[in-house]
Amino acid sequence: MHIIYEPERQRIAIQKSGRLHKASMDFLTSRGLKFPPNERSLILPCENYDIDLLYLRDDDIPEYVRSGVADFGIVGENVIAEKGVELPVIEKLDFGRCRLVIAAPSDSRIKAPKDLEGKRIATSYPKLLSKFLSANGIEASIVQISGSTEITPELDLADAICDIVQTGSTLKAHDLVQICDIMESQAVLVESPQKKITKDRFLSLVNLR
Ligand code: ATP
Ligand code: ZN
Repeated sequence: MHIIYEPERQRIAIQKSGRLHKASMDFLTSRGLKFPPNERSLILPCENYDIDLLYLRDDDIPEYVRSGVADFGIVGENVIAEKGVELPVIEKLDFGRCRLVIAAPSDSRIKAPKDLEGKRIATSYPKLLSKFLSANGIEASIVQISGSTEITPELDLADAICDIVQTGSTLKAHDLVQICDIMESQAVLVESPQKKITKDRFLSLVNLR
C-alpha cells in the first residue's frame, strides 16, 4: 500500500492489537475523536478531525515517533526504554501498568540477583537486562527470545527469566518466583521531537496543552 504524505494530517501511532490497543482507542475516543469500526486497515482516518491512526506493532512505535512519521504515539514506557529512544512524554496514561522483573523457578538456587552470576537469563528485553546486570556487576548470559519466556526454565533453555508481569499469575502458573524488580511501566502518550505546527492543534484538541 502506498501512503501519501499529507502534512496537514496528524498521525497517531497506536498498537494494532494486543494489551494496549483497546485502552488506547478508548483514551482517544474519550478526548473527542471518532473512528469508524475498522480494525483491519493499517491506517484509520478519524471521522471528525484531520487525524489518522497508524496501527503498528508496539515495538515499532518509538521509531515511527522518533522519526516524525507519526506525530504522536501511545506505547509502554518499557518498550521506549528498551529501544533507548528519547521521546517527550505528554501524558502518563495510567493503563498498561506492569513491571519488568527477574524470576527463577521456585526450586532453583537463584534467590537473589547475585545468584545470577554465570547463569542464562531468557528475555525479550536484552538492553534493559544488560544494563541492570552491568549496574550490579553481574556476568550472566542473555538468551534473547521474542516471547513466552516463562516456559524457558522448564525447557532448560534458561535458568531464569526477565520479563514483564502485571499480577504475577503467569509466573505462578509456571512455578517461577520473582527475584527482583528492574523497572515499573505504564502506557504514555509521546510526542515526536520533529517540530510541526499542526501538532499544537491536536494537543489543544485533546486538552493537553
Ligand atoms: P505486538 O504484537 O504489538 O508486538 P506484544 O505482544 O509485544 O504486541 P503485548 O503483550 O500486547 O505486546 O503488550 C503490550 C504492552 O502492554 C507491553 O509492552 C506492556 O507495556 C503492557 N503490559 C501490561 N501488562 C502486561 C503483561 N502482563 N504482560 C505483558 N505486557 C503488559
Ligand atoms: Zn511487541
